[in-house]
Amino acid sequence: HKSENVGIIGSGLIGRSFAMLFAAAGYRPCIYDIKESQLDDALADTRKQLADLEKHGLLRGSLSAAEQHERISTTNDLAECVSDVFYIQECVYEREELKRSVWEKVDPMVGENTILASSASAIVPSKLSEGLVHRNNFIVVHPTNPPFYAPLVEIIPAPWTEAGIVQKVKALMTELGQSPVVLKKEIEGFVLNRIQYSIIGEYMRLLKEGIMSVEDLDKVMTDGLGVRYAFNGPLMTAYLNAEGFYEYGEKYRDMIFGIQKSFGEPIKMEGDILKQMQDEITRVVPMDAIHERRAKRDLRLTALSKLKKEM
Ligand code: NAD
Repeated sequence: HKSENVGIIGSGLIGRSFAMLFAAAGYRPCIYDIKESQLDDALADTRKQLADLEKHGLLRGSLSAAEQHERISTTNDLAECVSDVFYIQECVYEREELKRSVWEKVDPMVGENTILASSASAIVPSKLSEGLVHRNNFIVVHPTNPPFYAPLVEIIPAPWTEAGIVQKVKALMTELGQSPVVLKKEIEGFVLNRIQYSIIGEYMRLLKEGIMSVEDLDKVMTDGLGVRYAFNGPLMTAYLNAEGFYEYGEKYRDMIFGIQKSFGEPIKMEGDILKQMQDEITRVVPMDAIHERRAKRDLRLTALSKLKKEM
């Protein structure tokens, strides 16, 4: 059935995640990749991931893991992937030229109403869609990794994207169980990464000035800000800490502004700072323990995402 079909271009980490999210919501995603072996890996991997989610009670929707997996198909024919679909999610490597060439190929293959979405993490939608016939249907849908546990998706329209497309994509992502946020216009780095890099930038400044160790800096987030922000964002937190924003502003604006003015020029992640980060963090988690630590991270994220759903 036409309205159930979704095209996924690129079968890496993100392509697989989107395929599972669509399958859980009852859609029929078809994944295309230039590397055929990747497609076999994608099928095996999504089968395992869905089974694991089922085991942990985290599977979405009402279908079993096996039923969800049965809905995912693969193809090595791009036209087969993108024709007769209402939505396409492109998930190829983050290279502007590659993404542009993929969309130039796809553009003449799609109908008037197909939504054209790219998973780009940093490339603005106007650069990817400028020359496309169907550019009014083009949008960036930037997921957070891993999408199953961190549901945020940033929706970024190009200047020419139709308003109706933004609304449709927002509704679709909500239907998939994701948490969409909309940028009113494009900006370099979008929002999540701008905020992430401002944090990392300040971390590097504090290291450079010899204020705190790498291990303690991370703790400021994991036992301080991160805990606080898991349920209330910085703005809600501020609002709740005073009798409304006007009072908050009156109380704290001068202090905040004074500190803001001391932030200074950005610091590049290289040289002594980079060495210090690597040296200190390997004392906490040595390089040969990275895999183990990743597995632990995923388990913890699973537990947190369960808890957030219950609250
Ligand atoms: P990946 O390296 O895991 O997978 C990319 C896939 O694209 C590979 O399977 C590759 O074979 C395939 N590919 C390459 N050229 C192709 C082509 N011409 N046609 C079809 N397939 C092609 O990458 P990923 O981590 O899944 O990232 C994909 C996109 O999602 C990138 O734009 C990335 O920036 C974005 N993204 C990644 C993350 C993340 O944390 N990994 C988070 C958000 C967004």
